[in-house]
Order: sequence, then structure tokens, then C-alpha cells
Amino acid sequence: MAKYTKPLCKICRKYGMKLYLKGTRCETDKCAVDPRRGKVRLIKPKKLSEYGLQLREKNKVKIYYGVLERQFKRYFEIAKRHKGVTGEILLQLLERRLDNVIYRANWVYSRKMARQLINHGHILVNRKKNDRPGYLVEIGDVIQLKPNSKYTKIVKECIEEYKTKPVPLFLKVNNENLNIEILRFPTRDEVSIPVNEQLIINFYSK
Ligand code: SF4
Repeated sequence: MAKYTKPLCKICRKYGMKLYLKGTRCETDKCAVDPRRGKVRLIKPKKLSEYGLQLREKNKVKIYYGVLERQFKRYFEIAKRHKGVTGEILLQLLERRLDNVIYRANWVYSRKMARQLINHGHILVNRKKNDRPGYLVEIGDVIQLKPNSKYTKIVKECIEEYKTKPVPLFLKVNNENLNIEILRFPTRDEVSIPVNEQLIINFYSK
């Protein structure tokens, strides 16, 4: 799991967008880059070279999904080997991470919290414990919160709090039984971060 030593909101101010690194606060107008605050204080970017722009885009996505450089590069290598548009496949792989799926189903306040649930063994995939946040979900996988998990209360609170937040259509979420079914792989327009993936591809293609 990627660890960041800088204040998290400063990272969002640097990239000029919400990277949802802090949980509940990110959804409120207390968020440092929330447009509801009126004038948002961003960190002015330096004039960047083409390489600098590519590096910035790659780092932004890496931070957003909470993955390390080595893992991120591995996703790129996998995407390159697949048929299709490499950039889209790269983003699809990131969206298929187990921690991301749990976050996007609105069961947790942040991807960091999703990783905690998974690392502590509270998530089952196809009825078996899965403690790998980077597990790539497959079509037909069923994800469950472990019965009698100590996180049940907090997951239900999160579901209640985010009940108006849409869930992407590649997931079928049953909040009564606390399970998530993967209906299909996410499409490019279901990726939850504005990104120019071509810059990332160019970064790694040098
Ligand atoms: Fe980023 Fe806003 Fe969350 Fe801070 S509160 S981490 S600025 S999204």
C-alpha cells in the first residue's frame, strides 16, 4: 500500500482536483478543493515540460488508487499485453482492484478504509477470505463482508450516508445481504478520475 508523508489535502491542491484521500471529509464542503468553498486555493503548477506533464498524470492516478510505482508499472505491462487500447485497459485494471470495488460500492469512506477491511480479513470473494487489496475482480465474482464482521456497523453507516451516491453499473450491490456481484468489466466512461491516459502511456513507452 502506498504511504504518503505530505498532508493529504496538499496533494489534492497540487493536482487541482479531489483525490478522495481522507474519507468523509472529502464529500463535504470542508474539503480543501471543493467548489462549494468558493475560491479554492490551489498550488500553482510550474510550467512543465512534456515529460513533466506525463509524470504528473501518472503520479496523480497512482495516488488516487493508492498503488506503488512497482505495482503501477506492472499494471501497465499487463495492459500492454492485452488486445485493445492500452490506456483504457490500464484504467480498467485499476478499477478492477478489490479495494476500489468496495469503495465504489459505497461500503467504505475511502480506498484506504477498504484496504484496511481487506487486510484484516473481513472480505470474502466467492466465499473465501481474500486479503489482497490488489486482487483483480473477475466477471461473476461475488464479494461479501464476512458474516458477523466487526466492521458491519460502520459499513452500514457508510451505505446509509452515501445512499444517494450512484454506484457504477458494472456492480450489482445488495446492501441487505452485504454482497457485490461483478456484472462486467468497467468501461472507460465509468472510470472515476479525469485523466489523460495517453500521457501515462507515453511516459512508460520511452
Ligand atoms: Fe483531497 Fe478534499 Fe479529501 Fe482533502 S478533503 S484529501 S482535499 S478530496
